[in-house]
Amino acid sequence: MKACVLQSPAPIETNPLQFTDVPKPEPQAGQVLVRVRACGICRTDLHVTEGELPTRKMPVIPGHQVVGVIEAAGANARRYPTGTRVGIAWLHSTDGTCEYCKAGKENLCNNPAFTGYTVDGGYAEYALAEENFVYPIPEGFDDLKAAPLLCAGIIGFRSLRLSGIGRGGRLGLYGFGAAGSVAIQVARYWGAEVYISTRDERHQKLALELGAVWAGGTVAEPPVQLDSAIVFAPAGEIVPAALKALKKGGTLTLGGIHMSQIPALNYNLLYQERVVRSVANNTRQDGHDFLRIAAEIPIHTEIQVFPLKDANRALNALKNDAIRGAAVLQVGA
Ligand SMILES: [Zn+2]
Ligand SMILES: [Zn+2]
Repeated sequence: MKACVLQSPAPIETNPLQFTDVPKPEPQAGQVLVRVRACGICRTDLHVTEGELPTRKMPVIPGHQVVGVIEAAGANARRYPTGTRVGIAWLHSTDGTCEYCKAGKENLCNNPAFTGYTVDGGYAEYALAEENFVYPIPEGFDDLKAAPLLCAGIIGFRSLRLSGIGRGGRLGLYGFGAAGSVAIQVARYWGAEVYISTRDERHQKLALELGAVWAGGTVAEPPVQLDSAIVFAPAGEIVPAALKALKKGGTLTLGGIHMSQIPALNYNLLYQERVVRSVANNTRQDGHDFLRIAAEIPIHTEIQVFPLKDANRALNALKNDAIRGAAVLQVGA
């Protein structure tokens, strides 16, 4: 099969992904083989490709927002018939036995596997998944538009849940890529007012189109005090600015898997019971709950489509803020 393979991490400007032929994988017990139709591009793919996350598997096929169709199943995999359209997300598997799994916090599992990082992902014509970790895709979404729901959407949703935002609340979003453009729609559906801080003017414009009441630069101060805020941009210097905009008792949620150093903070920014917390992965329940609400709203995803062989070009564009909404690789069209 064709795939984009990372042999070793390198700056994306050097186009480190090789479009090449690799053996088509075989589903093992409990697994399904998915014929990929679309794979969304996530900032985490950039972190994996450039080596900002520790190397776990090399070579590796990145990609963890996979939409495709089940083509074959391994032994004991009977949950979905062949031909079912499913999504494969970041959480490839958990051990099911550690203290976190037992406590309903499988996102924090001690022995997880991650799609496109510790196991091969969806920048390929086929990908393997554990049948218990795939998500049926709601009918209203076409393949390409569904792809960004699987990480940007689910992680944005979990970030919103952890932020505690509700009806009438004022929510700040810092960074307005794929996750932000989904989170704003859910937050507005829940009746919150949304304020966007993002460096790129095209992203500010998209935010206003999606119903933000205000949009400004990266660390621009919103015109009101916020009940809670989420930082999606991987830039630690946003943290003090975001805390400054928070009301007493407000929560600042950090939605990324990687962030540059957070500068020293004056304790006054944190005092008055402000909370800073991170988001790590998601539970399967988050995924199923989000996809249900995504269909109900319904979520509109703004996408830019690239052919599979152009994954390097898409990741370069992502790094340069040149994607409006989400980049998606079209596979096998
Ligand atoms: Zn576990
Ligand atoms: Zn992701």
